[in-house]
Amino acid sequence: MTATICAFCRGQGSDPFDLLSPLARCQVCGGKGTVVVAEPVTRCVYCQGSGIQPYGTRITCQVCGGKGVVAFGGSGELCPDCHGSGRAAVNGLPCTHCRGRGMISRRAALLV
Ligand SMILES: [Zn+2]
Ligand SMILES: [Zn+2]
Ligand SMILES: [Zn+2]
Repeated sequence: MTATICAFCRGQGSDPFDLLSPLARCQVCGGKGTVVVAEPVTRCVYCQGSGIQPYGTRITCQVCGGKGVVAFGGSGELCPDCHGSGRAAVNGLPCTHCRGRGMISRRAALLV
């Protein structure tokens, strides 16, 4: 386990979109500015590490949960379905093959 800067609020600890109030805590890190993730981790390709669900939304990335990184174990290879983008070509939703990670593990050791 390792602590990393919360991607969703960029370490500020407050809600980046002021959805509730300007004083609302970041829902991802609970206001701490950092999140604890299980190693090994890799940058979330679906949100490109921003922690924000793509396409102009204001919600946390559904792949990484707003952390900007996802746990990924084992040696990976590019997902043949989305070619590493983590996005399904048809609708832009997280690729079902790699679950939005853009990589698949040869050892089938995908961690949640
Ligand atoms: Zn945060
Ligand atoms: Zn993400
Ligand atoms: Zn994929």
